[in-house]
Amino acid sequence: VRVTLLSGGVGGARFATGIVDAVGAGALTVVGNVGDDLEVLGLHVSPDLDSLLYTLAGVGDSERGWGRGKETWNALETVEELGGEAWFRLGDRDIGLHLVRTEALRRGSPLSEVTARLAAAFGLETALLPATDDRLRTWLDTPAGALPFQDWFVRRGHRDPVNRVRYEGADSARPAPGVLEGLREADLLLIAPSNPFVSIGPILAVPEIRQALSERNVPCVAVSPLIGGQAVKGPAAEMLARLTGGTSAAQVTSCYLGLIDVLVFDEADADDADGVAALGVRPLVTRTLMSDRDTTRRLAEAALEAATVTQ
Ligand code: GDP
Ligand code: CA
Repeated sequence: VRVTLLSGGVGGARFATGIVDAVGAGALTVVGNVGDDLEVLGLHVSPDLDSLLYTLAGVGDSERGWGRGKETWNALETVEELGGEAWFRLGDRDIGLHLVRTEALRRGSPLSEVTARLAAAFGLETALLPATDDRLRTWLDTPAGALPFQDWFVRRGHRDPVNRVRYEGADSARPAPGVLEGLREADLLLIAPSNPFVSIGPILAVPEIRQALSERNVPCVAVSPLIGGQAVKGPAAEMLARLTGGTSAAQVTSCYLGLIDVLVFDEADADDADGVAALGVRPLVTRTLMSDRDTTRRLAEAALEAATVTQ
């Protein structure tokens, strides 16, 4: 079975490990978000691709959920001492990766090629693809003005309410090599329990990706990032409430209308099942907290099984 997963960073990466445990690393293609990429200290940072890379390679920091394990912070401390930009946390090992990526991009390699090279160096068997090689950036319209994603998320701690999400560059962005093949040749498609607006939204904003999903011939199963109407971590619930009027599983479904056949969501939200079904999407209620490797694998298996049944 070949599986293609659309994913953000931390939540998506954890879910991806469950899929790998269930179907094997070689059966999985991951299409990662690049809307929150940034340039800082002259380095090109792709936070979600790196969360996926480090997690799937088994070298991530499982406690933080992002960055590398056994990390040290000497370079950033020096940056701070010297009055440089230290608000975006980059560890020493992480910086090493960013040096290699940034140099390759500057020499003209597309992001997909650089990502493949890094993934190969880490021994990754899963295909890890950026949604696009083109410049695509997420912006948030807030009462404090329009903020680039990382200013809103990291620098200001996502405290500003979001009136609108925009994906700069998306209209003219083309899917990276392998993405359309991954979507068209998979036996089933999955959307990770990632933030629908700032992790999955930028991927779906690439016109040919959205089109490929809406024209799919195989089932697409999404997993909700909310449990009991609340995010496990991050601003998904606040955003959903403000942008769609509530935090039910039906409201999560509304983010993916026409693109998914099944929504997997938590027992705590079981009452929302009728609302999901009313939108023409099959509700599948199970435990969705990925607290350890076993529960993560079980969630992945539930999503895979939902797709098989739908077929
Ligand atoms: P980011 O790009 O690093 O912000 O990560 P994602 O967008 O991929 O993941 C963030 C989302 O994952 C948040 O909305 C969380 O609610 C969700 N999430 C994190 N852990 C879990 C979990 O164990 N179960 C579920 N269902 N969602 C989770
Ligand atoms: Ca992210």
